[in-house]
Amino acid sequence: MPVDMPDAIAHRILKHFAENARELPWRNPPGQALPLDDPQWPFRVWLSEIMLQQTTVAAVKPYFEAFISLWPSISALAAAADEDVMRAWAGLGYYARARNLLACARAIMADHGGVFPADETELRRLPGIGRYTAAAISAIAFGRRAVVVDGNVERVVARLFAEPQKAKLYALADRITPTDNAGDFAQAMMDLGATVCTPRNPRCQICPVRADCRGRENPEKFPSKPARLARPERQGTAWWISCDDHVLLVTRQPKGLLGGMRGLPTTDWSENLDAPMLFKGEWRRYGMVTHIFTHFRLSLSVMGIDVESGCKLPFVGEWWPKSQIVEAGLPTLFAKAAQLARAMEERNES
Ligand code: SF4
Repeated sequence: MPVDMPDAIAHRILKHFAENARELPWRNPPGQALPLDDPQWPFRVWLSEIMLQQTTVAAVKPYFEAFISLWPSISALAAAADEDVMRAWAGLGYYARARNLLACARAIMADHGGVFPADETELRRLPGIGRYTAAAISAIAFGRRAVVVDGNVERVVARLFAEPQKAKLYALADRITPTDNAGDFAQAMMDLGATVCTPRNPRCQICPVRADCRGRENPEKFPSKPARLARPERQGTAWWISCDDHVLLVTRQPKGLLGGMRGLPTTDWSENLDAPMLFKGEWRRYGMVTHIFTHFRLSLSVMGIDVESGCKLPFVGEWWPKSQIVEAGLPTLFAKAAQLARAMEERNES
């Protein structure tokens, strides 16, 4: 049984990883010595872990590669302009991560001489680094023993031990984490959860720990899922204000949702859809876009108007060429609204 055989379980998982590891642009191949003499190695691990929070590997890959080519080192990233980083992050979601990324890079330069700490406790003092990320960096970048528990790992451990209670999974993961190869083991568990012990229809027949697994008969029971609360609805209006083939974009307040990002001007996101227009004129109703945020579902009505060059507007913004709107670095919500407005404009012209 797994309780009595933690070393054997770790060994089987590591062996499976050595033979099946996913090739990822931020990864050191399994079994190879960590490139500790490469000063940018922890930087790459950290960057990938921040990007992977709440996001899939497939979505992260192009962003990771773009960031590394734009800012190949912690010092380059720390010196980057906020708006450039926010624009490069656009579309990856959870924008507080991008703000914390910059704050962390600057703290590493200011307080740690440009060198990432290896210790979990010190890592956790940095912006945007919680228990999971600190453990992942400590194990994967520095080879230290650390218990790395993300959603994938929780699922594997819950099934392996047939333990439905989430609160007990960290201690069980600790029990099977080996002293050596903790970085490979962390990544092996993540890969196992992502590719074999998947949320639905786990592939138990090819699983390296099937003989040890207590939850194999009924894997989807583990871990138990909290009751889902209904997601509240919010509403608002976004304004597509055009002038000579340009559209007005604003930079959102630094704090709050999509903080610091470019976007269309909008009402607050709680009002009725029929919000009063910004100013009098021939507004056109383009339609509606919806977007799911973590804690609510937003429906934005998109309204368009043409204005004269030099006219007075009730806020400060920048006139952006519509033909280059994809380069504005709009977060997904506003990219959807821009796409809708452009499509409606084309339809109205034809
Ligand atoms: Fe998951 Fe099945 Fe492997 Fe158990 S045997 S850990 S349920 S894939």
